[in-house]
Amino acid sequence: MEPIDRDKQRIQELTELLNRYNYEYYVNDNPSVSDAEYDSLMEELQLLERKRPELKDKHSPTSRVGGGVLTNFKKVTHKKYMLSIADVFNEDELFNFDATIRKLTGLKVVDYMCEVKIDGLACSIIYKDGKLDIASTRGDGYIGEDVTNNVMTIKTIPFTINDKREIEVRGEVYMPKASLASLNAEREKNGEPLFANARNAAAGSLRQLDSAVTAKRKLEAFWYYVPDALELGFTKHSEALNYIQSLGFRTNPERRLVHGIDEVISYMHEYHQKRSSLPYDIDGLVIKVDDMRLYDIIGYTMKTPKWEIAYKFPPEEQITQVLGIEISVGRTGRVSPTAILAPVRVSGSLISRATLNNEDFIKSKDIRIGDYVSLHKAGDVIPEVEKVILERRNKDALPYQFPTDCPYCHEKLQRIQGQTFCKNDQCPSRNINSLIFFVSDQAMDIKGLGDKLVESLFNEGLVKRAPDFYTLKEHKEDLMMMDGIGEKTVNSLFDAIENSKKNDLYMLICGLAIPLVGKKTAIVLADHFQTLDALVNSDENELAALMDVGEITARKIVEYFKAPEHLDDVRRFKELGLNTINLKPKKEVPDNYFKGKKFVLTGTLSVTRDEMTKRLENLGAISSSSVSKATSFVLAGEASGSKLTKAQKLNITVYDEETIMPLILEAEKKI
Ligand code: NAD
Repeated sequence: MEPIDRDKQRIQELTELLNRYNYEYYVNDNPSVSDAEYDSLMEELQLLERKRPELKDKHSPTSRVGGGVLTNFKKVTHKKYMLSIADVFNEDELFNFDATIRKLTGLKVVDYMCEVKIDGLACSIIYKDGKLDIASTRGDGYIGEDVTNNVMTIKTIPFTINDKREIEVRGEVYMPKASLASLNAEREKNGEPLFANARNAAAGSLRQLDSAVTAKRKLEAFWYYVPDALELGFTKHSEALNYIQSLGFRTNPERRLVHGIDEVISYMHEYHQKRSSLPYDIDGLVIKVDDMRLYDIIGYTMKTPKWEIAYKFPPEEQITQVLGIEISVGRTGRVSPTAILAPVRVSGSLISRATLNNEDFIKSKDIRIGDYVSLHKAGDVIPEVEKVILERRNKDALPYQFPTDCPYCHEKLQRIQGQTFCKNDQCPSRNINSLIFFVSDQAMDIKGLGDKLVESLFNEGLVKRAPDFYTLKEHKEDLMMMDGIGEKTVNSLFDAIENSKKNDLYMLICGLAIPLVGKKTAIVLADHFQTLDALVNSDENELAALMDVGEITARKIVEYFKAPEHLDDVRRFKELGLNTINLKPKKEVPDNYFKGKKFVLTGTLSVTRDEMTKRLENLGAISSSSVSKATSFVLAGEASGSKLTKAQKLNITVYDEETIMPLILEAEKKI
């Protein structure tokens, strides 16, 4: 039997889904999913096609401008294609856009026109001899629908202009929020279906066969582009907009010509706030290079110009599908279920997994495979499933059966205080996770030993227990037979392993993966006992008396060192030459400017981040990875991105290296 090609399967699924959603949205003006969900599926398909280009179909939804043409309308072939705009979803992607533009044009700083992205539908009008000649929808980008009579019902659109040349203007026909509210109220009264959003209401209203209906719908329009501006004698997009405004077209007053990407970012932050107070819906911003002479140099893809980008606002709530539930057994034997999700953007980052905590969590929310769920971010980073969207549940979906046996070693699972455990010390999943933890930066910090490699080393039988990492050298040949590992990589891996022998005692204690003993407790233990031997021989009372070590942890530590295999590990660590004594006896950090301050590093510094972190931690400062109100200061290097912007927004002190170094040197004198 041929193995299942999951990518191929998913590409087919996504193509079918997106084609269906496109039809509902563009042809029927009646979407069944949110734009954010649609955008995530599109992004997932783009990523898969990039990963497996051989599977990309030339009619893929990723390479077509969305849109349909109703047969009841006369068709119009556009003189110049009406393309889509590529989307970005966060600040870093805006910085990347700017970096590409600068690279392609050789400019140091680029002038951009920032505009709001009005949520309506694109429309083109051609004027000939000073008169409105023909108006059309975007359609599929090449052919649109002739909606001239309907467009003429929009009161602010000029029928004549004071310029006899052939001029095309493009813009957005939209329905103001107030018009949508009254239209939906009326439809509700008449028992008619409501419009899902302003965009679909506008599209449904403009694409009416009876212009009298369109006229009642109170549509509006803003004009944002003149495709022939260069030929008409303008070099800047901003000048072309000012010109059409002078001819009587409504242009959007929120637009702003800015100098450089930093001003784009400020505009973006400003409009996150202003968005809700505008009298029409916007779903993002459009950033365009102002100098139109650069457009051909920057170029186009099949579907989008490269000189403009749409920044999409993050949705309040994000919905995605549960594709599966994965069960893992951690180093302590705890069983954790994880939802495998159709990738979706949550606060700017692409999420494809979410913790389901434990069996009770799944039961209480009745999460089933195939369900659509809404997500929210728990704490700062980990996304959690909020609720199941029951209306979208497939009628065949069965309640999820939590496994009763460990999926890795088939031992019966045990439930203890609401959690599920695999109690088998030999469970391969437990062992692999213990080894992954041992080499991770939370413990021995051995660079180059990624999760996948550790798993392969375990499966190949090269590393079964942590001390085996230190005898890997004897298996150099076997290691080099493994996929993707060259001699250079192997040698630097051996160096990293060798160097880790000198690590401080707390790192080794932490790496032992004693239940309930994390880095903080490991430091307390190393400081108190000074040697690994003393810890091995300690008793429960002495342990429980220590700060930060409770009675339960004390019992776990004693139990841990009773197990023969753990004692054997300790013996081998010593024989193999690992450091087992406390190198840096803890000393109280004297008062200084940095003591107790929470800091975040961002951007590129002249030294590695690890080095700078250690230096500041030595002064008693506390390192943190994300900026929040609790952050005391941010040290920003070259090319700092979103963290810097967030710090500025929260009014947090920001240092560059030049200003912080004298303070560090001053503080170090006191130590
Ligand atoms: P797009 O995201 O490709 O953006 C281009 C469009 O933005 C233009 O055609 C124009 O109509 C509009 N626009 C508004 N203000 C503008 C400005 N100032 N300058 C330039 N253009 C401006 O638009 P699209 O291809 O019409 O729509 C794609 C989006 O539609 C998707 O990202 C998704 O969010 C939504 N969609 C949703 C579904 C669904 O089922 N929910 C289905 C299809 C598409």
